[in-house]
Amino acid sequence: MKTDMPEVNTVEVGTVEMNMAETNMVERKTDNNIMTGTDRSTDRSMEGKTAVVTGASRGIGKAIAKKLASQGACVVINYRGNRDKAEEVRNEIEAAGGKAMLFPCDVSDFAQCEKLIKEVMKTTGRIDILVNNAGITRDGLIMNMKEEDFDSVISTNLKGAFNCIRFVSRIMLKQRSGHIVNIASVSGVMGNAGQTNYSASKAGIIGLTKAAARELASRGITVNAVAPGFIKTDMTDLLPDKVKENVIPQIPLGAFGAPEDVANAVEFLASDAANYITGQILCVDGGMAM
Ligand code: NAP
Repeated sequence: MKTDMPEVNTVEVGTVEMNMAETNMVERKTDNNIMTGTDRSTDRSMEGKTAVVTGASRGIGKAIAKKLASQGACVVINYRGNRDKAEEVRNEIEAAGGKAMLFPCDVSDFAQCEKLIKEVMKTTGRIDILVNNAGITRDGLIMNMKEEDFDSVISTNLKGAFNCIRFVSRIMLKQRSGHIVNIASVSGVMGNAGQTNYSASKAGIIGLTKAAARELASRGITVNAVAPGFIKTDMTDLLPDKVKENVIPQIPLGAFGAPEDVANAVEFLASDAANYITGQILCVDGGMAM
């Protein structure tokens, strides 16, 4: 009898017979427990658009900037202090035939964000995509946490996203279009011991995303969040090996993700293919928060 289920080829892996989908998963696990994010499409559907990506000098932000540029967007690479790294990202984008420019700014500073957005508008005349990615951690148990470690994480991760949306929303409202993608975290969805400041900032991002989505929807602007799990970047390199080892069993797909895994999800939510999706939180976490 014919069914709607696709046919799958089966192969021998060791002594266990698995279908091809399972085999691919095993292949992705072989690289030191780090997934090897794959590039999906290059249809250049973002040609003529301007995308601002905060914290794009390294890690997930860098992968997002490169991904959006590969789709034809002119990408504004924001960073805080790491100019050399930011220049590397611009060079990589330009070498691949893309367009990019650098704008340093501390996203936790309201006035600097206003200046950033004004400068971008002077240069490009429009902003179609905003990705609020800049973020930091200052981990510690709540009973020992310094006040400044709580404040700096909230200021960068949560207020930073507010600051940028505050100034970009006016522009998108006039354009009657735009896609905003905020980078949350599995820590904001589930909570994480030792990260009360970080989890609070990321849970805040989820509330900010949903409220802004409701406010801006009538003008066709979408606001969504991507909540990564453990992704291999400078941020997770800071974790002690013992912590990394303990995390792996909590990830159903059994490995850390790659920045490109997050970039693929952001690219979709920032594209017109996602025009009817708003206020959503997409977990890219190997199944941790299901
Ligand atoms: P990362 O490698 O540490 O890079 C952080 C980026 O943010 C850098 O580009 C940095 O710029 C920038 N930045 C930091 N503070 C800033 C500020 N005040 N103003 C402007 N830019 C600032 O971090 P990542 O792992 O790629 O994380 C990116 C985002 O994903 C963060 O929001 C993080 O919370 C979230 N996330 C990460 C993971 C993970 O496992 N890695 C998991 C869940 C969520 P400079 O280079 O100039 O310092």
